[in-house]
Parts: sequence; C-alpha cells; structure tokens
Amino acid sequence: MRTGGTAKLGPEERRTALDALGRDELQVLVVGGGVVGSGVALDAVTRGLSTGLVEARDFGSGTSSRSSKLIHGGLRYLEQLDFGLVREALTERALLLQRIAPHLIKPVSFLFPFTHHGWERAYVGAGVGMYDLLGISRGQVRGLPLHKQLTRSRALRLAPALRKSALTGGLLYWDAQVDDARYVIDLVRTAASYGALAASRTQVTGFLREGERVTGVRAVDLETGTELHIRAQQVVNATGVWTDEIQAMAGGRGSINVRASKGVHLVVPRDRIQSHTGIILRTPLSVLFVIPWGRHWIIGTTDTDWALSKAHPAASRADIDYVLGQVNRVLAVQLTHDDVEGVYAGLRPLLAGESDSTSKLSREHTVAHPVPGLVMIAGGKYTTYRLMARDAVDAVAHGLDGKIPPSCTDQIPLVGADGFQALWNARSALAKSSGQHVARIGTRIGELLDLVKADPSLGKPLAAADDYLRVEVVYAVTHEGARHLNDVLARRTHISIETWDRGVQAAEEVAELMTGPMKWRQRQVAREIENYRAEVAAERKSQEADTDTDADAIRLGAPEIVPVLAGNGLTGSGPHGSGPHGSGPHGSGPHGSGPHGNGVHG
Ligand SMILES: Cc1cc2nc3c(=O)[nH]c(=O)nc-3n(C[C@H](O)[C@H](O)[C@H](O)COP(=O)(O)OP(=O)(O)OC[C@H]3O[C@@H](n4cnc5c(N)ncnc54)[C@H](O)[C@@H]3O)c2cc1C
Repeated sequence: MRTGGTAKLGPEERRTALDALGRDELQVLVVGGGVVGSGVALDAVTRGLSTGLVEARDFGSGTSSRSSKLIHGGLRYLEQLDFGLVREALTERALLLQRIAPHLIKPVSFLFPFTHHGWERAYVGAGVGMYDLLGISRGQVRGLPLHKQLTRSRALRLAPALRKSALTGGLLYWDAQVDDARYVIDLVRTAASYGALAASRTQVTGFLREGERVTGVRAVDLETGTELHIRAQQVVNATGVWTDEIQAMAGGRGSINVRASKGVHLVVPRDRIQSHTGIILRTPLSVLFVIPWGRHWIIGTTDTDWALSKAHPAASRADIDYVLGQVNRVLAVQLTHDDVEGVYAGLRPLLAGESDSTSKLSREHTVAHPVPGLVMIAGGKYTTYRLMARDAVDAVAHGLDGKIPPSCTDQIPLVGADGFQALWNARSALAKSSGQHVARIGTRIGELLDLVKADPSLGKPLAAADDYLRVEVVYAVTHEGARHLNDVLARRTHISIETWDRGVQAAEEVAELMTGPMKWRQRQVAREIENYRAEVAAERKSQEADTDTDADAIRLGAPEIVPVLAGNGLTGSGPHGSGPHGSGPHGSGPHGSGPHGNGVHG
C-alpha cells in the first residue's frame, strides 16, 4: 500500500510540494531528477524518511532520456573481464523486467553477425554463454530466452537487410529495453505516491551551511523566480554530468570528478532496415546497436569527449556520418542522411579515470560524503540506478540519527506495474470495449479513458502524430509533470524524434491541449510554439556543422523557454557555459506496439 502522497504530478501538486519544501525541514533532499536522483528519492522515502526531490529542468531531461534505452549487463564489459559488474547489472535486469517495471521494460533480441570463420563463433559464443549464465545466477529467473548460434542463411532470414557478404554466420541473444524518459517519470510518480515532495524546474543555486555542515540548499522556482530555502538533514547530489558544479558550490571539497562523453543516436523508419531482430555490430572502439523502437529503429552510438554545453549536447554532421558509416558496413541498401527522422545526443557521466579513452572508463559508481550533510553519487549506468540509489541512501543513513531500515526498493513495483499482467491479458477485451486499437492498451488506459469519457474529442489521435492520442497530452500535464511543450513532444511522447518534421506540425495542437490544464494565456501558447520551432531549427542546423564547437555554438542560439540562472557555479565547462537549462527536442521511447507498453500504447 502506498502512503502519504499522490502519484499525480500536476501543476497543483507541484505548487503544494514547493510550499512544503520551503516550509518543513526534510531528512533527505535529492538534487537532480534523472534516473539516479529519482531512484534515490524512492529509496529514501520507502525507508520512511521525509524526502524532497528538485530538478532544474524537466524530470529525465538530462542524460536519462538520451540513452540507448537498454537494460543490459554490457556484453563488452565481459571482454574487460569485469564479471562482477556484468552479473550485478543482469541481476537488476531480471528484477526490473519481472517485478519492478514489467510494464516498461521489454525483452529485445540482438543478432551479432560474425565476420570471420571458426574462432569468432567460439569466442563470442563463449562470451554470450557466460552472459546468459551470469544472468541466471543468484537464484534469479532471468525471464529471457538463451542465446542461439545461427548459420549464415538463418541469420539472413532473420535480418534480410544484411549484405550477404557482410557475415559468415551469427548469434542471437536477448537483453531488455526501456522507454528511459518514461521510466524516470514513473519513478518520480512512485516516490511521490509514498510521500516524496517532487518539483521540476527548481534549480539549486547554493548550499545552506552551519559552519562546515550542509543544512539544506538555496533554490529558485524557475517558473516564477521565487527563491526558496530548503532545509534538510542530508542533501544528496545526483546531478550526473553536473556533479562537479554542485561540488564546487560546496566549496570544491569532494572526491568525485565526472567527465562527459557524448553519445549520438539516429532514428530511422522501421521499413528502412528489414529485420526481425535488433543488431549489434563491433566498431573499432566499441559497439553499435540497431535497436527496434515501435515503428522505428534507433541506431547508435558514438563515444567522444565533450566539454561544451551540458544542457544541449549537439550532434554534428561528423557524428551522424560516423553512425551511418558504421551501420552501412553491413547493410545491403545503404542509409543516407535523407533516411534520418530524428537525432538525439546524450552525455555519459563517467567517473574521471586514468584511461585516455572514454570507452574504457568504468561505468561503476562512487558515493562520497565530502562534508557533513552532503552525499555525492555519480557514475554507474541506467541499468544499475537502483543499486546506486541504495548505496547513496546507505551513506545518508550514516549521517542521520537513529536506525534507518535497509533499502526495500527491490520489493517496490513502480506505478503502473501493479496489475499489469492481468491488464495485459485482458487487452483484447479492453480494446473492444473502449473502441481503441489493441496496440494502444497500456497501464494508463483506465485513467485515460476516464478523461475521454468527459471529453470524447480527446480519444482521437493527434493530427500530425497519430501514434499518440490527444488525451495523452492532457494526462502528461495533469499526472506526469509536463510543464512545457518540449516536455510533451520530447519525453512524455517521442514525437520530436519519431516524425520527419520533429514535432513542428504537432506543436500547435499539443500546445492547445496543454493550455487548459496549464492555465496558459494566449501569449504563453504562442511563446511555447515559437520556442519549440526555434529549438528544432537550431538542432537541424547544428547537425550540418562539421565540428562539435560549431554545432554547439549553433544549438545554443535557440532561446530557453525557462531562463536558467547564470553565475551560480552551474555554467558548465565549455566556452559557452551550460546551466542545466531546457532540453533540446530530444526524446525516447518504445511506445509502439510491443507487449510491454505503458500508456494507451501497447
Ligand atoms: C549515449 C548514451 C547511451 C547510454 N545507454 C545506456 C544504456 O543503454 N543502458 C544503460 O544502462 N545506461 C546507458 N547510459 C548511461 C545512463 O543513461 C546514465 O548513466 C544515466 O542516465 C545517468 O543518470 P543520472 O540521473 O546520473 O543523470 P541525469 O539524467 O543527467 O540527471 C541529472 C539531473 O540533474 C539535474 N541538475 C543539474 N544541476 C542541477 C541543479 N543545480 N539543481 C537541480 N537539478 C540539477 C539535471 O537537469 C539532470 O536532469 C547511456 C548514456 C549515454 C549518454
């Protein structure tokens, strides 16, 4: 049973949370609403601690909506003989897939094409065999099929898009995938349902101190400019690639240094690559994934050092050329720039290590307690966010009086997971009674249909993005914390990367649907649309630039919808500065028609 809160993240709930954050002393305040910070908030609140969570932009708008969206052990860590890391991540994969978020995480298969005869089959086969084995250790049922060796003709039958001469045979293995942006929202909603106070667009600008001790933060509600003092016995810094900036606010004392590595993904329509499975390819430095994504493929990624804008990592033409070049090595029909519907770039928060090559740095995480009252958590990867959160709250517990119970998040299904299997089993009947296509039946269906009952026009698809229903936009505002057009187009839906015009045509209808629940005036509606169009134009232009520096300069030309405060230690590391301000129209999500959808989408 959930206690003390509501799983709604509407404008009213945000106001109530901000009032309480400015009033009551908390036991734990988490800074950063990515997957790690949201996970920390859930871990803390479910141990019975009074908990707050503040995010400078939209929940999940940092790295946590720009990943490859895989819940995996990381096959390539096996090559580095990092068995512990792989086993840990695979144990998490099973837990997330089966108990914590079966509605959001779904199995995905990958074909590994062999390019050599003999030794490669044995070498990769042994590695993937080990991967399978690590996945079933510790009594966890893995919930995924075991790998299969394939002859060349079987591999080609599975992936007819591959050039015959590009492979000698292959291997098929299974992992899992997630709509990363939506996962963060469901995490925050779950934390809120247990009583955590969560507010987006609330930027931490400094610490409250008593002597050396951190006793809370100074923050600003960026929507109104109101300053807040949030008092907390322990503050957790979970700001990913912004970790060092927050550390600097604490007087520069700290032991964690995070460096950013840029990863770019392309989105192409499903019909451009004929394949019944995802594909994984070796690249000179790492691997490249071709990942099924509803009616699309996501292809990526790159791995290059990035010291420019952290808020808007820009993909350059060189990044796009690289990804196309790598995938075209094996495709019979070459992809070109004209096939690219969407592009998104994210920054890996890597613990700064000794290696010069970012792809060799560890994804493992670190927790530090640099001054009393402040805990820092950084590194890791999406798949292991829950373990990072557990370790951060264990560190918090050391700084709190009294006995704090151990983490129980391995027992806590996210909002939407409860009853998912029964709902899934009843999907055909639900589709029939609701008049919606079966592919649109997901865990939010009951609440969405209630809204449609009150206003039947909401049951129609968006005119310029018919994968989504109009009601999803309203629900995004009333229940899922969306506050701006970009939040809906890029993260509650993924229209910004799934349509050729990157959501420009849908912008007007979406903004109009948001107007009522957001209580916008006409001027604000126009500003939202104008701003979104300017962001898309800047992104498109930046993707024609040859270098990172040029792409970054062009991308930063688009104005922010919500201005972020400068001069607060958050101005980033590049020549252009980079507060954690509004995210570009990037997005993510297998809303499509897979069996584990979350919304009205299957
Ligand atoms: C290209 C790419 C592919 C990846 N693929 C995978 C994958 O397939 N599987 C996997 O397991 N992992 C993957 N990862 C890693 C994973 O995405 C990250 O490790 C994870 O998302 C990091 O989450 P986070 O919460 O630490 O950071 P973030 O999501 O960046 O969250 C930090 C938040 O802090 C906020 N913030 C910053 N400053 C302030 C402030 N002053 N006040 C308030 N808030 C602030 C920011 O706005 C931001 O939202 C990938 C990463 C990249 C870049």
